[in-house]
Amino acid sequence: MKLILLGPPGAGKGTQAQRLVEKHGIVQLSTGDMLRAAVKAGTPVGLKAKDVMARGELVSDDIVVGIIEDRIAEPDCINGFILDGFPRTVAQAEALDAMLTRHGLKLDAVIELEVDEAILIERIETRVAEMTARGEAVRPDDNAAALHKRLEAYRAQTAPVASYYASRGALHAVDGMAPIDQVTKAIAEILDT
Ligand code: AMP
Repeated sequence: MKLILLGPPGAGKGTQAQRLVEKHGIVQLSTGDMLRAAVKAGTPVGLKAKDVMARGELVSDDIVVGIIEDRIAEPDCINGFILDGFPRTVAQAEALDAMLTRHGLKLDAVIELEVDEAILIERIETRVAEMTARGEAVRPDDNAAALHKRLEAYRAQTAPVASYYASRGALHAVDGMAPIDQVTKAIAEILDT
């Protein structure tokens, strides 16, 4: 099973992706997680991405497309994968189409979690407060200024990706403001049909 989970920051993509991983035995490919690992390891990609990410802006298309192309060729992707946080621009979606064709792969579904912006800000503030209370390190882009930029990037560059898949009849929208289990159920219903 090969899926894309679309949705703004704080929409719950990570939570739902984890549940899909457990249910279907597929892997979660989060470009955000991969980039954070690259930053931590101080790789050339990490060095290029670090400041851009901290500002809440998007890393260049060729960097993330390269990361995903390498990753989907790895053996653990054989049963399928969930793309979480990718594609984030129409150019990335086009590059993904070309790469899937090259690898003889086809997407099963594109699922968009729809959420109100006011709720997103609240959710991210809660996440930050909970992490701080647990003594965990907070992401450098989980602050008001970077969050504002991340939402702006979503509106300007990622919302058109939903239209890209909608125009191909591949997009399924789910109410991301429903309780977590209900969102999981709605996704399962889409995947069952
Ligand atoms: P995320 O964990 O998905 O919220 O991503 C955190 C940050 O990583 C984003 O704000 C971007 O700076 C960068 N990033 C993650 N995925 C992408 C992508 N597909 N294209 C460009 N930048 C990305």
